[in-house]
Amino acid sequence: MKVLVVGGGIIGCATAYELAKAGCAVTLLERSTPGAEASGAAAGLLAPLGDSSAAFRDLAVASWRLYPGVARELRERTGIDVEHVTRGTIYPLYTADDVRQAEELARGARGLDLGVEAWDRGDVHAHEPALSSKVGGAMFVRGDHWVNNQRLVVAYAQAAVTAGVSLITGCGVSRVLVEDGRTSGVIAEGERHDADVVVLAAGAWTSALASSFGARLPVEPRRGQMLALTHVPPVITHAIHAEDVYLVPRPSGELLVGATVERVGFQRAVTALGMSSLLQAAIDLVPALGGLPISRTWFGFRPWAPDSMPILGPWPGIEGLWVATAHFRNGILLAPITARVMTEWIVTGKTPLPLEDFLPNRFLTRRQT
Ligand SMILES: Cc1cc2nc3c(=O)[nH]c(=O)nc-3n(C[C@H](O)[C@H](O)[C@H](O)COP(=O)(O)OP(=O)(O)OC[C@H]3O[C@@H](n4cnc5c(N)ncnc54)[C@H](O)[C@@H]3O)c2cc1C
Repeated sequence: MKVLVVGGGIIGCATAYELAKAGCAVTLLERSTPGAEASGAAAGLLAPLGDSSAAFRDLAVASWRLYPGVARELRERTGIDVEHVTRGTIYPLYTADDVRQAEELARGARGLDLGVEAWDRGDVHAHEPALSSKVGGAMFVRGDHWVNNQRLVVAYAQAAVTAGVSLITGCGVSRVLVEDGRTSGVIAEGERHDADVVVLAAGAWTSALASSFGARLPVEPRRGQMLALTHVPPVITHAIHAEDVYLVPRPSGELLVGATVERVGFQRAVTALGMSSLLQAAIDLVPALGGLPISRTWFGFRPWAPDSMPILGPWPGIEGLWVATAHFRNGILLAPITARVMTEWIVTGKTPLPLEDFLPNRFLTRRQT
């Protein structure tokens, strides 16, 4: 089966890799370089315990479980260490009521093997002494891990090439070819690429590809700004996730501070307000961060759908056309499971998990022309 994957972010690279392992002849078309957009901009947190639907949580936990094996496999194939850190995340709480709720959540989450614990003030400050004295307790999730997402996307891209994928960079797709109810390939940089199957994995730009064949897919960008502090010697050792900011200590000696969520279209900028709000929240949480040097700042565009859920599956009414996008705040976490379910679905026609909640047809309308 000849497959074209459009978009070399984490979703496109991981999916191309799994498809090639399953025996498909895969070409991956990326208009820039792998990880050039959201996948290179993320913080790399793998935190499956969100407050979304049960279907989302099942998908997230399934992907989280794959990570130790994925990190090992990518290292064996490419030599790249994706810095899979397993120290857990502290979610700060401020009132006795919050701590009681965390205790309930911890009891409810026992079956998930995520190691959820409710900490009182003493526990919190014993484990992370630099946290502000305003923090009166915490939920601790031992199972929340993190990776270096920049390395991860490069590792997936390299692994894909070793598995036989033809990776073409600097190659923007301008049109998806659809005739008589099926796709026959794409036009990229003025050239026709033929295929039996086309997978749209162009992140926040996937709606532009849909427009190219007269359809509308409501995927929009949500800008996220972040910054990094030089973190040697380290001030904190766990990831810390508060309402308005999160902190991720990287083995490389950086502390990532993220992230804004903004509806500003594709404005390619780090703003004064974005940086000041993140820094203010970070210093309120861990006062000692105030003295650390800022090493870099950046932004990225998360692919967002109106229900904040991924869009996965076959395009209704167009044989051979598939979509895998809109992973919003969780694309790094969800990449391994997305790649595996898409591959099994495309190759065998069956999904290994129930994915009705993520089907593209919940949004699709044909444009009346
Ligand atoms: C600041 C920030 C922090 C985040 N933190 C986390 C986190 O901690 N954990 C987590 O799980 N997720 C996180 N995310 C979300 C995560 O980054 C995204 O969900 C994920 O990267 C989406 O991957 P993608 O491959 O769909 O999109 P992208 O990485 O944006 O990739 C899409 C690719 O398609 C290419 N492309 C677009 N149009 C075309 C075309 N016409 N032809 C060819 N190529 C094209 C682009 O160049 C791009 O490389 C964060 C995101 C941001 C911005």
